[in-house]
This record gives sequence, C-alpha cells and structure tokens, in this order.
Amino acid sequence: MTDFTYEVDADGVAIVTWNAPEKSMNVLTREAFALVEDYIDRALADDAVKGVVITSGKKDFAGGMDLNVLANIRAENGDAPAQALFDFTMNGHRILRKLERAGMDPKTNKGGKPVACAINGTCAGIGTEIALACHRRFMTDNPKAKIGLPEILLGIFPGGGGTMRYSRMVGAMQASPVLLEGKMLDPKKAKMAQLVDEVVEADNLVEAARQWVLNAKDADIVKPWDAKGWKMPGGAPYHPAGFMTFVGASAMVNGKTQGAYPAAKALLSCVYEGAMVPFDTALKIEARWFTSILMNPSSSAMIRSLFINKQALEKGAVRPTDVPDQSVKKVGVLGAGMMGAGIALVSALAGIEVVLLDQKQEAADKGKSYTTAYMDKGIARKKATEEKKEAVLSKITATTDYEALKGCDLIVEAVFEDPSIKATVTKAVEAVVGEDCIFATNTSTLPISELAKASKRPEQFIGIHFFSPVDKMMLVEIIKGAETGDRAVAKSLDFVRQIRKTPIVVNDARFFYANRCIIPYINEGIRMVKEGIEPALIENAAKLLGMPLGPLQLNDETSIDLGVKIAKATKAAMGDAYDNDEADEVLFWLFDQDRLGRKSAAGFYEYDEKGKRVGIWQGLRDKYTTDAEDPDLIMVQHRLMFAQVLEAVRALEEGVLEDIREGDVGAILGWGFAPWSGGPLSWLDIIGTPYAAERCDQLAAELGERFATPDLLREMAAKNQTFYGRFGKEDAAA
Ligand code: NAD
Repeated sequence: MTDFTYEVDADGVAIVTWNAPEKSMNVLTREAFALVEDYIDRALADDAVKGVVITSGKKDFAGGMDLNVLANIRAENGDAPAQALFDFTMNGHRILRKLERAGMDPKTNKGGKPVACAINGTCAGIGTEIALACHRRFMTDNPKAKIGLPEILLGIFPGGGGTMRYSRMVGAMQASPVLLEGKMLDPKKAKMAQLVDEVVEADNLVEAARQWVLNAKDADIVKPWDAKGWKMPGGAPYHPAGFMTFVGASAMVNGKTQGAYPAAKALLSCVYEGAMVPFDTALKIEARWFTSILMNPSSSAMIRSLFINKQALEKGAVRPTDVPDQSVKKVGVLGAGMMGAGIALVSALAGIEVVLLDQKQEAADKGKSYTTAYMDKGIARKKATEEKKEAVLSKITATTDYEALKGCDLIVEAVFEDPSIKATVTKAVEAVVGEDCIFATNTSTLPISELAKASKRPEQFIGIHFFSPVDKMMLVEIIKGAETGDRAVAKSLDFVRQIRKTPIVVNDARFFYANRCIIPYINEGIRMVKEGIEPALIENAAKLLGMPLGPLQLNDETSIDLGVKIAKATKAAMGDAYDNDEADEVLFWLFDQDRLGRKSAAGFYEYDEKGKRVGIWQGLRDKYTTDAEDPDLIMVQHRLMFAQVLEAVRALEEGVLEDIREGDVGAILGWGFAPWSGGPLSWLDIIGTPYAAERCDQLAAELGERFATPDLLREMAAKNQTFYGRFGKEDAAA
C-alpha cells in the first residue's frame, strides 16, 4: 500500500487518492511527495486523461507535513542543513508548480489539464497548500471539518507556496487571519475567505469535482498571477492602498508578538517582498525565508515542545505501562467554588457523570450554574444547542449528600485550602466510596504526602492540580505523593485525556512545578520595583521576552491578597531560609492600602470605572522609583528569565521533574513561558549552558544567592552539554 493511489475512470478523470498507510491522518512524507509528482506526470502524459481529482481515502483530507521530515533533513545534512532545507522547499515548489501549470503552453496559457481538489474533511498545512495549487477546491459541507494554514502556531509559516498563493488570491489584509493567526475555518467561512470555491454535500463531493474537471475551459485553470496584467488585490507595497496595508500589518504583527516571534516577521517580509516580483521569483523568496525560519532554533524548539512532545504527553508518554485503562465513569467533585465548578464543567463536557458536592445546597447549585452559563454563552455564539446544554447539565448532580458519591471511581477535592478541612472531607468520602476509588486533591500549596496522611489508602491518593480558569487552561499538573501508586497516576492521566487537556506528572515538593517557577518571576519583578527601577521597564522587558503578562500585571490578576497569603505561609514554612522580604515589603504595602489587584480595581496598576487597566499606578512610582539610572533592558530580562529557568533546573535536579519534556510543555501551557523559546530548558539550550552558567555566576555575585548556578547546570556547562542532548526522549515522543 502506498500513500497515494491513482485510478483513471471511464470518463478519463484520474482520481488521485491520499491514504497514508497505518496512519489515522494523512501527513506528507518525502516519498509521498515524490509519488504526487509521478502521478501528475502520468496524468499529463496520458492522452486518455482529461483532468485530475485529488481526494483522500480517510475521514479527513490531511494534517500537514510530517514534521519529522524537516528535522531529518537537518540531521542528515550536518554540514549544510540550510542548503538542504532550501533545496527540499524548492523541490516542493517545483512539484506544485507543475500541478498548477498542468501542462499549459507557457505563452498562451492553453492546453492544460484541470486539477480539482475534493476536500472531504479537515485539511491543514501542506494539505491546504496542495489544494491551493489546484485549479478548483470543493469542500464537504460538514461543519466540523476545518481548513487552514496553522503553521504560524508552531513557530514556522506556510512554506509550500501557501503564503504566496493565498496572499495573491485575497490580498495581504484579508490573508492575515489565515496566515498570521493560523485560523482554521469551517467550510462556510472557508468559502467566504476564498480558501475553497464550493461547499458540497459529502456524498456528492468527488462527483462535483469530477464534473467540474470534465467541463473546465482553458481560462478556468489559469491562476490570476499567471494571467497578463495581474495586480495584487488590495495593492502591492508601493501602491497607496498597499502601502497602508503593509504599514498597518507590520504594526499589528509587532504589537501582537512584541518582535519575539521570528516566524511572524519573516512571513510578513515574505509577503511584502513576494508581492513585488513575478510568481516564480516569489516562490524562491518564500523558500529563502522559510529556510531562515527553519534554521532559527526557536522554530525547532517550538515544534518540539508544542507539537511533538505535547502530543506525546497527551498520548500517555509518561503513563505507567502495565496498568489497564482507567477511564473515569463517575467523578465526585468536592467543593463547588471557583475551581470545583470548572472541574465539574469540563468533566460533564467529556461525558463523565459528575457529583458536585458542597456544604450548602445553594453553593452546590451555584457551582452547577457555572455550566449553565457556559453553555448559554455557547448557544449565543452558535457553538452549542439547547439539547447539548441539557445533555451536559444532566450529567451533573449538585448535592450536599455524601451518599451520592457512591459509585464514584475518582474524587477531585477542591474545598478551602485548609489541611484540616481537607482531612475531614477525605475521611468522609472514604467512608462511602468503594475500595478502588482514587482520591485526588486540587491543592495548589499543601504537600500531597501530608494530605495523604488523612487517607486510609495513601497509594490511591494523588494531586490533580488544575489552573484557573479551568475551562481555558490546558495544563493539568499531576503530583505524586511519597506513597502514590501507579494506578492513581494512570487514573489521573486517563482522566486528563478524557477532558482533553495536557498532563505533566511531577513529584511532591513546595509549589510542585508551575507555581514553583512562576512565583520567583513575580517576586523578581516586585523586587525590582523595590530597588527603584521604573515599573514600565519591568513590564515591557517581560513582554518583549514573549511573556503574556508582566510580573506586576500577573500579580494584579492573581490578586495581591493571594500573594500576601502565600508569602506569609512560605515564610512560616521556610523560616530562616526565606529570602523574599524585599519583595514582600512592596506587596504588603499595597495590601495595607486595599490595593488588591484587578478585583478591587486597584493594584500595581490603575483601572478606570469600567475596570479597564489604564497604566502603572503613579503612587507606586512616587514611593519607589529613584533618579538613579535604570539598568539596561537585557539585565532586567535576564533577571526575569533566570528567576524562572533556574527553578526549572532545580526541579529537574531534585527529581520533581522526571522528564524535561514536561518541564518545557508545562511551562508554556501552565504560565505562558515565552513560547517562542520552546520552554525554560529549551531556552537554556538555545543560549548554551556555558553562557547560562557564566551569566548566573555574574547575577549571583551582583544580586544574591537566588541566582546561584545549580550544580547540574555547572556540570553541563563544563561539558558543553544541552538539556535535550543529555535528557532528551524525543525518539520515544515522535
Ligand atoms: P473557593 O473558595 O472558590 O471554593 C471552595 C468551595 O469549597 C466553596 O464553595 C466552599 O463552600 C466549599 N467547601 C469548603 N469546605 C467544604 C466542605 N467541608 N465540604 C464541601 N465543600 C466545602 O476556592 P477555589 O479557588 O475553588 O479553590 C479550591 C481549591 O483549589 C483550593 O485547594 C485551592 O488551593 C485550589 N486551587 C485554586 C486555584 C485558584 O486559582 N483559585 C488554582 C488551583 C488550585
């Protein structure tokens, strides 16, 4: 069986069907691309063939390029990877250009054979680029099928001609949601965006494409850019309208990415430069920019973390292998507050039966009403129906009665953050549930091994730490206590898979993994305020690193009182080892003035009457900023970055992290750690461990022991090792 099959029907239409063997989704390999060319050649050479329809033998059309292909090309061409990537890209252009020109006379544009694409399901990346090279695109009317070019989300951009073809079809402005934001569109929207030409009932799809092929005229198959007098829609860069478009687009891209994402900039340059030259030259420009992006370490780090390793973790890369399926049928959620309500929602959406328990019936009902509101919003946006809402709500029983928990195979506890309350509910639950039930706590600060002491079955006790808001945040941190057994880990991982989130599994230590890294980031920001550094410099330095929120804004969002609570509890637990008094002074001062952050419309920032953030609060500057010269941007950035990544290294060194993939994926999904870098450990690999260790030594000498180089990093620096070289498990992931 091969990736594509070729069959000529009685009317002389060659049907090329994509059906990659042993894969649930078509992804393009090098060999398969060569086969596409063979079939184009065969169709063009055969006088009996009138035209071609390309379709898929699977439920969907295509998932894109097999991303391992790019990594392999790089690896195989150690001395000249850029040349090899460029040649590979240009070869792809040549094949698709052959398909697009379809044997036409270059002067008259006559005599070519029509090629239609019958897109029978979701179609992404190179799948869409092949479709764009065809002369007409037919798509199934299934609204669940989506089409687009999501490459930008992985730190690359469409390099199979998609950037040049689509921007030439609709103009730079209209192309931007698809190219720059990677939006995937349903068939109706795809037609409006001109990604497809016709939306057809699934049963009639190939027939509609066939009929079009049989009736197409010469003029129907000439692409606008191959016709005489073609002009870029919306104007090329030196046209007055085009000038405005490109100036605006450049501002928009830089505003959104803060210049941290090389692929977005490259894509824009590519469209700009390509718009001024003939199409074949434009393809060469696209290939050059594409190669440059593939050679940028950011793109391989993003692909590795956001695609390969994220998927591997979702598929159970760290799941104990000898435990049979532990899918959850009935979950008990204790505490119907902010977290409990969200956990009940995502569980019910996954079709799991939920018992949502609180102390008072009103509280339990209020927790359930979160799901009602969520579904109502979905209905208003036409993403859900009344029936779906009823089905989801019918899964949730809101109650105060522990007896209702009978039959639960998993409990997720989200009551107040108080060990004695948690111990009481643990005992109450264990009195009613079966022996097999796994008990998980959603605590964010209390050690799992301590909480497990209240349980009769500590091997069935575990942490499942959700992030707020539960329905939006994709990461779930699973924490093993000292006695947690494999079945509890497997159960938690199977639950996370059911609710379609990404898990990481870590060992029990203060603040687990995500909070352990994010708290020092916030504290370093506040410490700089205390030192008199301009707050806007601190915030902008973070944004320019690609962090979604500066440390001060993040603290306003999570609330100043929570920060105070955590600081006090940490100090009490750590005693003399605690070294954060500097930052605490600022935090406690804000707290004393009732500036609790966004929720009180006053914090590090000022807010207007509608609650909109308007700028840094002048009172903060009046109290702390000095006339002394501010440090340079890089210094501020290094303080913010190393505060986080050193914790990641320590977590690895101490065995809290068992797998570096989890350290990187968890950081990006958990707190938005500079996604362009691929995560904290990838970032260290990008800057190199020798430089990282040297820089930490300097920072430690200047600023204190919190920047001290961990032994592991020092050892790796001495050997010039990388984290992925030493600890990488990419083969297992791929
Ligand atoms: P919350 O105050 O919004 O909700 C707690 C709920 O538990 C309340 O509805 C309360 O009535 C109920 N409750 C208290 N005692 C109970 C008992 N004995 N039996 C049944 N119900 C009881 O708190 P939250 O923000 O949802 O946090 C809950 C847990 O989740 C805490 O352990 C917290 O550390 C953790 N957590 C919170 C966040 C966050 O961002 N808020 C994030 C991750 C984890």
